[in-house]
Amino acid sequence: MALVESLTIGTVLVSQELMGLVNYHGHLCPELAIGYRVSRIAMNSLHITRENSLDFIAGAANSSSAVDAIQYLTGCTIGKQNFFIEDVGKHVYFFVKKPLDAPNNKGLFIKMKTPVYYPRLTDCVMDQNVEINSLTREQILKYRAVIDQAIGKILHRADNSLFDIHFADFGKEFFYRDTRWFN
Ligand SMILES: [Zn+2]
Repeated sequence: MALVESLTIGTVLVSQELMGLVNYHGHLCPELAIGYRVSRIAMNSLHITRENSLDFIAGAANSSSAVDAIQYLTGCTIGKQNFFIEDVGKHVYFFVKKPLDAPNNKGLFIKMKTPVYYPRLTDCVMDQNVEINSLTREQILKYRAVIDQAIGKILHRADNSLFDIHFADFGKEFFYRDTRWFN
């Protein structure tokens, strides 16, 4: 059976997998794309699937659209009590296999390097408080183009150009350390 390999949203080419996520979240935005990339790295590196997700614990240091991506793709969710949010507004994430006290257990930490997802808007037409209804069609298209460009960068840059990715010790005392995990 022939499968459609990819689809487009606006000017952005997306995979079937990403399209499923977009349908779940409601739209394609830069932070969803970040969560998509973070999830793919974790899933490939630790072999996390929705089926084995209860064997893992994940965490995010923000409560942006990225956390929808992580829950949808990895199956680690707030409802299953294996996904934790400490919202300090940072794109820092961790994933670890249980049990946490296994010898040599290492957590995977993924930290965003550069704020490539913030669109640089030169004409100040669009700030967060502007109502979409008050914009002209031309302004909306221009804004969307800037957003699409940011999403394109996030989807296509190499893992190590977007993120610092490393393994670190991860024990049961993890959540009580003086040095916070997201720093
Ligand atoms: Zn979003």
